[in-house]
Amino acid sequence: MHADSVQGFVFKNRICTPYKNCDSMNQVKRIQTEKIQKMSRKRQTKIVATLGPASEKKSVIQALVKAGVDVFRLNFSHGSHEAHQKAVKIIRSIEKESGHPIGIMADLQGPKLRIGDFKEGFIALEPGMVIRFDSNSKPGDESRVNLPHPEVMNVLKKGSEILLDDGKVRVRVIKKGKDYLDCEVVEGLCLAGRKGFNLPGTVIPVPALTAKDKKDLKAALAMGVDWIAQSFVQRPEDVKAAKKLIAGKAALMVKLEKPSALEHLDEILKLSDGIMLARGDLGVEIPPEDVPSVQKRVIRDVRHAGKPVIVATQMLESMIKNARPTRAEASDVATAVYDGADAVMLSAETAAGEYPVKAVTIMDRIATRTEEDETYQQIMENDHPDTLGNPSDAISTAAYYVAQDVGAKAIVTYTMSGSTALRAARQRPDVPILCLTPDIDVARRLAVSYGVHAVHTPETADDFTGPARHAADLVRGHGFAKKGERFVMTAGVPFGTPGSTNILRIAEVE
Ligand code: PGA
Ligand code: MN
Repeated sequence: MHADSVQGFVFKNRICTPYKNCDSMNQVKRIQTEKIQKMSRKRQTKIVATLGPASEKKSVIQALVKAGVDVFRLNFSHGSHEAHQKAVKIIRSIEKESGHPIGIMADLQGPKLRIGDFKEGFIALEPGMVIRFDSNSKPGDESRVNLPHPEVMNVLKKGSEILLDDGKVRVRVIKKGKDYLDCEVVEGLCLAGRKGFNLPGTVIPVPALTAKDKKDLKAALAMGVDWIAQSFVQRPEDVKAAKKLIAGKAALMVKLEKPSALEHLDEILKLSDGIMLARGDLGVEIPPEDVPSVQKRVIRDVRHAGKPVIVATQMLESMIKNARPTRAEASDVATAVYDGADAVMLSAETAAGEYPVKAVTIMDRIATRTEEDETYQQIMENDHPDTLGNPSDAISTAAYYVAQDVGAKAIVTYTMSGSTALRAARQRPDVPILCLTPDIDVARRLAVSYGVHAVHTPETADDFTGPARHAADLVRGHGFAKKGERFVMTAGVPFGTPGSTNILRIAEVE
């Protein structure tokens, strides 16, 4: 199960209990009463956590922030607009108390394909049996399944495969009729109604955003979310359509979960503001053994393009039920960090699991520990991106090397649009990037980016001629450097011209 379902789990044809929150009340209370200080985390890799019934209360959200969440994901496949609006209000109030920008990402369901209902709720299957998929909207039974997507019916042909319920059921089309498909069951024993299905290798002529997505998008933008995540993107045109509707009111995170999106990665990357490797659906659409190499390639490409990349789904899956992760899961989180991801994400673990706060705490520990590893530091240095041949990027690259050479404790960037901070993050420095920006939306969007500690500061920067007092105070205030220690600053002068980074300076905390 990778969806952060609110309905509980189907197990042995039975809907099992929804979540029971087992994080100790003490842990939640203690964290709640501690005043959330300006959080100067040591970790560079960011944590995205999905909210849901297990984590909608203010006390839990507070505990999640304290435990290490940088960005909250609201899953618009579930929950009402009222519930999402309430979560946004809570997050913004916690942000205010903490003085630390928190990102909010609204994840649209996208053109997710689902079968219709069954008379009995589910049907039993057996490999070899033949079932008809038709457009009759009446509930199905052992002999037929309702497929309420005429456009899908048209593109499937004899020999096509349909994967249902996250690939647990696999059928092959053996005959195509006027408005039905006869399919032979290849794998699977049980199929419940309303389950999703995937058509690996088939480009489906569905619009990028459904009517529901458009309604959800409008609501999410009205709530003032920072990121919109777009699901089931197939072509660059899908991204263009979303960008047009968002009209700059939020940044766009494209979810890679279709092979056709992987084929167009270069173009999609240019159009998007960030990429989420959505391994749940992707791992159904492509063979699971291909997921690790795709993960490495995607992270590398997105990082080199200077945009944030999130690794998502099943990272600590067993923690939906258990207080400790499996060793394989710990290794999976670490691998994403070694691969150089900007952020790692939790889905059902925090949305509907029994240990939402523990899951974040453990993810934080794994990421922190991995970043301390010498091997990690070597990997980051060896896979260093080339400069892009423009002045802004040259300065950011220089800042990275100068910071190393003078033993600087932080890199400080002044930015209007966030682009300077992204250029610095692209280098994956091993010291924090303190990003000062007068735009709170920019500060919140940067919460997902590697190593960036954004500070919303309405004041304009030091003029770079006198002592860098303002920056030094903040570097010290965040606990990044003590008196006498150095930091490196970059900025664009004159201030206020986005994308014009042209100054590099070494300064000292006085
Ligand atoms: P979802 O997306 O949880 O919205 O399905 C993530 C994924 O598919 O991995
Ligand atoms: Mn998905």
